[in-house]
Amino acid sequence: MIDMHCHLLPGIDDGAKDLDMSLELAKQAVEEGIHTVIVTPHHNNDRFWTPSEIVIPAVEQLQMRFIEAGITLQILPGQEIHVNDAFFEALDQGTFQTLGDSNYLLLEFPSISYPHNIDEIFHELKIKGYRVIIAHPERNRALWGQTNLLQDWVDQGVSLQVTSHSVSGLFGKKPQQEALDWIEKGFVHLVASDAHHPKSRSLRMKDAFQVIEQKYGKKVVDCLIKNGESLLLNESFVELTADFFKKKRFLFW
Ligand code: FE
Repeated sequence: MIDMHCHLLPGIDDGAKDLDMSLELAKQAVEEGIHTVIVTPHHNNDRFWTPSEIVIPAVEQLQMRFIEAGITLQILPGQEIHVNDAFFEALDQGTFQTLGDSNYLLLEFPSISYPHNIDEIFHELKIKGYRVIIAHPERNRALWGQTNLLQDWVDQGVSLQVTSHSVSGLFGKKPQQEALDWIEKGFVHLVASDAHHPKSRSLRMKDAFQVIEQKYGKKVVDCLIKNGESLLLNESFVELTADFFKKKRFLFW
């Protein structure tokens, strides 16, 4: 499987501090059965400016270090792009990096609100040929319980990515409840680690898929994992329709 949201690059943002930490996270990824990680350093927020011209050579360098260390993990360039008033300027400057050179962009909202002009942003990006994935909406309390709003976004072709640690309960009850509820409503297309640190924000995903499998069954997990592979191929995602959640009936003759 792939991990499409991960702060694996050393010394670039608030993720891996140095090469040792990157190597440790990469080993965790391999243990989890991950073959490809899309690295998504923060871009365009108050603290970090990481245009594609910084991401691409950093990915090439880190890939070489993995090869030298015998770690069989492919890494691809990406970004987690903060949406703020400077968003369109950063877009026009050509600083955005899509996920693995697909046409998917990973957007991050402010932590307890969402942009007032979000429909305009979705519209403009669509016109320019981008597809939007929203990073970890379940950790944004302004979106809790906003079923109609999220349904509207998904209807506009927007995809939601939830964080594995939210699903496994490490960010508390509410993010877990919302993540699982939105999976069942068909809003969620991807699960990713958003790993920053090998211990406190590790690259663990299997626990989350176990929780999803226990609650909704293996077909749902398979669909979420397959959507990651579809991202690499720049294909559309499969939506989790009601059929995926039909309760098994026991028939007696
Ligand atoms: Fe992130």
